[in-house]
Amino acid sequence: MDFTAIGTGLGVVLADNGAIASIRRHGRELGAPAAEAFTMELLDRNGEALRLRSREFRREGGVFTAHPAMPSLKVAIAVRADRDFVRFRPQVTGVPGDWVVSWIDAPQVCYPLRQGIDLVLPLHDGVIISDPTLRKAPYHPIGFAKRGQPYGTFYPGRAQLQCMAFCRGGDGVYFAAQDPHCATKAVEYEVCGEAVRLSLQTFTGCDFGQDYRPDWDYVLAGIDGDWQSAAELYRDWVEAQNWLPPMADYPEWMRQSPVVAIYPVRGHGRDVGEMEPNCYFLYVNAMPHIRRFQKEFGAPILALLMHWEGTAPWAPPFVWPPFGGEAALAKFRDALHDSGNLLGLYCSGTAWTCSSSILPGYAPGCTPEQERMMLRGPKGELEASVCNGLQSQRLGYELCLAEAPARKIVLDEILKMADFGVDYAQFFDQNHGGCVHNCFARDHHHPPVPGGWQAAMQHGVMAEAAREIGARGRSMLLGCESAAADVYAQFLSLNDARASFVRYYGRPIPMQQYVLHGRSANFAGNQGGTRWICDFSRSPYNLNRRLAYAFSAGDLLSVTLKEDGHAHWCWSYEWDRPAPPQPMFWTLMRNLNQVRRQYPEYLLLGRMQRDAAAVTGETCVEYDCEGRKREFPAFCHSTWQAPDGRRALIAANYLDRPQRLAIDGKPTTVAPCSAIVVG
Ligand SMILES: [Zn+2]
Repeated sequence: MDFTAIGTGLGVVLADNGAIASIRRHGRELGAPAAEAFTMELLDRNGEALRLRSREFRREGGVFTAHPAMPSLKVAIAVRADRDFVRFRPQVTGVPGDWVVSWIDAPQVCYPLRQGIDLVLPLHDGVIISDPTLRKAPYHPIGFAKRGQPYGTFYPGRAQLQCMAFCRGGDGVYFAAQDPHCATKAVEYEVCGEAVRLSLQTFTGCDFGQDYRPDWDYVLAGIDGDWQSAAELYRDWVEAQNWLPPMADYPEWMRQSPVVAIYPVRGHGRDVGEMEPNCYFLYVNAMPHIRRFQKEFGAPILALLMHWEGTAPWAPPFVWPPFGGEAALAKFRDALHDSGNLLGLYCSGTAWTCSSSILPGYAPGCTPEQERMMLRGPKGELEASVCNGLQSQRLGYELCLAEAPARKIVLDEILKMADFGVDYAQFFDQNHGGCVHNCFARDHHHPPVPGGWQAAMQHGVMAEAAREIGARGRSMLLGCESAAADVYAQFLSLNDARASFVRYYGRPIPMQQYVLHGRSANFAGNQGGTRWICDFSRSPYNLNRRLAYAFSAGDLLSVTLKEDGHAHWCWSYEWDRPAPPQPMFWTLMRNLNQVRRQYPEYLLLGRMQRDAAAVTGETCVEYDCEGRKREFPAFCHSTWQAPDGRRALIAANYLDRPQRLAIDGKPTTVAPCSAIVVG
């Protein structure tokens, strides 16, 4: 059967078994045949999983029936085409009373594993993957991750958007879920022999014996161009939803382009080992550095503290009172505010610490009553994946915020910081994108499997926090690790970008910013994980490149400090290791922030646009930790539209020497460590 979306020139052919056999555009085959029309998983009342494949059913009149293990089950995948999209809508009926449909992965979209095809994922802002075999962790469907197991890439969370694409020489295929309920989905890829399969494995949120009848479609469309075309299609869809924040709804201090200074007050750069107070404790000891930065950048400094918790570093959910007592932090808060600067605190999200793996002696444990409000696996497993382990931050679990006592704990901790006069809390650290992790508990106030209820619940928690903060006359902003997922952007105005996490196997792209810039902002982030990717000793421009990338993505600028106000390469990197070249980094920071302050209509409030001009320039050589030489453009650029409709191309030269760029062939010299705005 053939389906064609005439408007985007995409043709899809289904095989007799219902699987996608061909995806064609402009007479060219772009896809690869899929093995299955769908895969799915059901759980019984004991949490035993039954995974079914479409080939195991009999297919009659487009309906999959007569599965040997579950004869009553009927799966239908309705396929149709309109002007722009080929649409797929699965439906599962005849579910026995002792079974629940946990997830379905349909349709299955494949492309050939060949050089020259770029995979586009909205992961940690966005990434282009040219070699899908590079990722070390093998693909697995997401479920309930235990200690030592990776969580996978899921939306809304580490993936901020529910779409993906593959592109080849200006021609591409867009694959998205147009799900207004934002149900939890893997946004994943799997290498299958000579093909790459794209997956939007979707959790149903069903109950036992309940049919699954979603009221939305998965879509395929043809796109011209690259990832920006995919981002634009998604932006068109998401802007028609009712849960995005308005444009330009930022506090006044964000308009002054504050620089974020990130540092711990205990320890010397790592999350493990000794946690002695360092040169930034007492807290006010940082003030001379803060004042110096403020003068240097002509902008407020947002001091963003780590290891400040009075409990233990990264020991959620309890963070208050601060290490050294409230009075010590109050003195710093007042000194910051009196000088026009800002106080920010890192937290550690909605996990639960039984014992700290960082600070021996902090071991609050978990009573049987407390255990009742923790995330559970399908078999009632009481476990956690994120930051859980003896070599990690803690041993513990994760709170399920569907349970009122858990929600109260989280809100109470948020409000203690708001009451104290904190300006910004990166509260949802480890809740990437603002996510909640999967819960299968049978005795919680939610369905027995993950689904759209998770986003609705988390949205509710954030809305309650925002209401309470406002009711107290406070204005503390909340943020998360990674950029905010679209459904949470309304409440997460400033977030800790993590482009650093995808640099090993791909090239970061500001896809989240393309969709959401002007509504929810990021700062350049603590750059955690970069130490495992880049050989800093042979890559002097690496930090400059990362800062220029963030600038170009429209993020606020940030620096991770080592001792005495010096810039360091990234978070979780020992202070006694050599620092990056300081003068050129600080020069770049100063010059780029000047441009940010001068052009908020683009870099804070603007909408990213498709590149209208080709930009070429020098390349920069770096080496990764495995000794491989890697080359990057020695400049970053992006195109913006201001609220009044004006457009500009902004290009940054992160080298410490002048660079000749060609913008649509026209030569332009950009001064060392600086940016130009071409309107
Ligand atoms: Zn739960």
